[in-house]
Amino acid sequence: MKLRLIIPPAPRTRSFAIPISITQIKAFLENHGCLVSTIDLNILTRKNAQFFDHIFNKFDEDGVRSYLVSSEQNTYLRAMVQFFFRTIDLKDPSPVGFSITGYDELLTALVLAKALKAKCPDIKIILGGRFLTANQYVILDDFDFIDFVIWGAGEKGLLLLLKHLQARNNKLDHIPGLIYRKNKKILKNKKAAIELSESPMADFSDLPVELYFKQKDHNRFPLPYLISTGCLNRCCYCSIWPGCSSVTTKPPQKVVTELQDLIEKYKVNRIDLVADSLTGQAKYLEELCDAILVNKLKIRWGTQISLNETRPGLFKKMKAAGCELVQIGIESGSQALLIKMKKMIQIDAVPKVLKEIHKQGIISRCNFIAGMPFETREDFEATCDFVRKNASLMDVVVVDSFKLYKACIIFYNPTRFNIAQVKTETDKVLKYRPYCEHMENGQQSFASTRKFISIKTKLLQTIAKESGAEVIGSV
Ligand code: SF4
Repeated sequence: MKLRLIIPPAPRTRSFAIPISITQIKAFLENHGCLVSTIDLNILTRKNAQFFDHIFNKFDEDGVRSYLVSSEQNTYLRAMVQFFFRTIDLKDPSPVGFSITGYDELLTALVLAKALKAKCPDIKIILGGRFLTANQYVILDDFDFIDFVIWGAGEKGLLLLLKHLQARNNKLDHIPGLIYRKNKKILKNKKAAIELSESPMADFSDLPVELYFKQKDHNRFPLPYLISTGCLNRCCYCSIWPGCSSVTTKPPQKVVTELQDLIEKYKVNRIDLVADSLTGQAKYLEELCDAILVNKLKIRWGTQISLNETRPGLFKKMKAAGCELVQIGIESGSQALLIKMKKMIQIDAVPKVLKEIHKQGIISRCNFIAGMPFETREDFEATCDFVRKNASLMDVVVVDSFKLYKACIIFYNPTRFNIAQVKTETDKVLKYRPYCEHMENGQQSFASTRKFISIKTKLLQTIAKESGAEVIGSV
């Protein structure tokens, strides 16, 4: 039995980073004696320009809905399914797992899963990934062609599920994060986190690594390497910290040794040092730079930094150690809003830090969120002003619309955060749209809330662009 782990096509996105989730899981499971193959349909489909146009530019939710509800398959979906069938071995009855990181990926995964189940009913189909966990989607109640869902870190859950499928026993209640059917009921097991110490270096051997580096993408460091999980902050809109009980970092010397292996194996040295957040980890970052410098490791890297704690000389040292890009979550230019968000940043101190990063020649990629439900007119104007004044210090400005996740604390205290109501959507497909689509905000209706958020997002993107920054982001 060889588990096939798949990244489904992701229409409407332009991100071509090498997936870390399935490559980490592959390494973990193979260390435990399982066989795993990984397939990134997102990158493979984009190799074919005609196919890209069909699936990605003409992708329509209505077509997906028709297929999932009534099995009517339009030309574009048929092309996507046929491509999928050509990519995997249909004679192999091994399970197939889809990793879902967004709404569009969920839609394409459901289409592929439905078609696969119709053709090969014996193949078990598993869904997992950050989008399902953040939104706590059960899925099995709507789509009978999905056999299992796993919430949270998938490593241990998949390991035990594979053992269960091989042994064909009925015991599933010990498998962490598993959602399954039993006696016509849907049962959910408690999630389990995975410690970084248990997590081996990701295995990219099945993926066309060179293809990611050829893509015209904003991600300059497509090869990911995980250095830290969890976060010490407690931002109210975040779906990461509620699922992580602790913060763990990989020891700097271990990072250096594994990076040496990575460079040797894949012949690339542009690496994204991935962390959920490095809040409160400036000392760690400094030690990591020291280890890179002492070992004369020749890499170019990017990572995240936190603005609420910096150390003198840190950016200079980072630059010397090969750092070329830092991602920074600023989110708002209003101190009042940052306090309500529980984002521990002193906005007045940010320009000085940006100047220091700029002086060292490190690219800064600064994130902002537009349309928080409790953002006042004054808050938004303060953010616009901040972006106008500091655009010359921010190389890339990322403006994303606010997204409401079920795992974040806002969802369970909506009125505290100016959300009048979250509509319970009953449509089998539309209910999986991000929750902000169903949110009634203050005096605004559901539809006008969504429109209002996108207007704010586009306006902030325009201001950043007109002020001279490179701009990316989603509406
Ligand atoms: S700093 Fe980032 S990861 Fe940490 S709680 Fe805030 S949003 Fe979440």
